[in-house]
Amino acid sequence: MKTVITIDGPSGAGKGTIARLLAKKLGYRYLDTGALYRAVAWKAGQEKISLDNEDALKKLLNDIAIGFNGDKITVNDIDVSREIRTAEIGELSSQVSAMPVVRKGLFAIQRNMCLQGKVVIEGRDTGTAIFPESANKFYLDAGIEERARRRYEELKLKDSGITLEATIEDIKKRDTRDSTRENSPLTRTDDMIYIDSTNMGIDEVVEKILEHLKK
Ligand code: C5P
Repeated sequence: MKTVITIDGPSGAGKGTIARLLAKKLGYRYLDTGALYRAVAWKAGQEKISLDNEDALKKLLNDIAIGFNGDKITVNDIDVSREIRTAEIGELSSQVSAMPVVRKGLFAIQRNMCLQGKVVIEGRDTGTAIFPESANKFYLDAGIEERARRRYEELKLKDSGITLEATIEDIKKRDTRDSTRENSPLTRTDDMIYIDSTNMGIDEVVEKILEHLKK
């Protein structure tokens, strides 16, 4: 049954844009798992919780209510859709996501949404840890310069101080952290369809995925 489509890949590969469009075409829901980590990072920042304080993070995960409806993300009913998209929260979320207590806390939300079916879920471990039984797994990639350029175009709309060089460094750091962490590292497995989108347009990537789904 083609009801859970997982898309994994590194920062800036275009997973969000592609997953959102694909979900729209299929009439599926869309889950941006990165937004969950960003929401936790935002809340930890608000409460000035040190990211190595496991007990405090555990309590935060118990108390937090993350709402998602399309692109609107709320934390305990506060709309944080814009606040979580900054470079600073991107960096913080990459740090909190390495904490097992955080991954464990967010697992159930993601898993439950998959069990309901008809969902496109994207992130770093959706095909390996969240829904490994999916028959429709994709790994979306692009060259580092292109990924940094895409992130930069997105970030500069909100933060005029950002530079392309700083974005490249940031992406490199996150790539290393995401793929070397002990708990659910970003991994490409043999059962994932690999797509390199460096020289592809958005619609081309979506078409390619749809072609695979028809097979
Ligand atoms: O995709 P996005 O940049 O919004 O994700 C923010 C951070 O959350 C990533 O850098 C990554 O460290 C973490 N993340 C994760 N597992 C996921 C999705 C995101 O560890 N499934």
